[in-house]
Amino acid sequence: MCGTDLHIYHDTYKSYPPVSIGHEFSGIVVEAGEKVKHIRKGDRVTVLPSTAITCVICAYCTTGNYILCNDRRSLGSGIDGGFTKYVMAREDMIYKIPDHVTLEEAALTEPLACAVQAMEELTAIHAGDTVLY
Ligand SMILES: [Zn+2]
Ligand SMILES: [Zn+2]
Repeated sequence: MCGTDLHIYHDTYKSYPPVSIGHEFSGIVVEAGEKVKHIRKGDRVTVLPSTAITCVICAYCTTGNYILCNDRRSLGSGIDGGFTKYVMAREDMIYKIPDHVTLEEAALTEPLACAVQAMEELTAIHAGDTVLY
C-alpha cells in the first residue's frame, strides 16, 4: 500500500472510480496475449504502473517525457490496479523478477525507483557513491 492509495481513499488524489487501487505489487503471470513476445505464463513479474495510458502524440510523449502527459493514467488510479486477484498490463510495463528477489521485495520496486530517481535528480549523491563509512 502506498500513500497514494490513502489519498485516493480520502478523495485527495485524482482517480477514476470504481477502478481497483494498488500500484506497488508483484505477481505470477497466468496468461499472456498472443502478441506478447517476452513474457510467459509462470513468469514472476512486477510493473511500471505510471504510464498505463498516455496519448503518445503530445510534446511530452514524443520526447520521452510521457510521465508529464496530460492524458496519462496510472494503473491503480486511472485503470484497474493491484488490489485484486488478477491485473492486466501491457507487455512494455512488465519487468521480470530475478530468481534471487522475492515477490515481496519486488513489490517495492516502484517506490524504490521513486527514491532512487529523487536522489539522482535532487542530490549530488549518485549510484555507486560511498555515503557512509
Ligand atoms: Zn506508490
Ligand atoms: Zn501525451
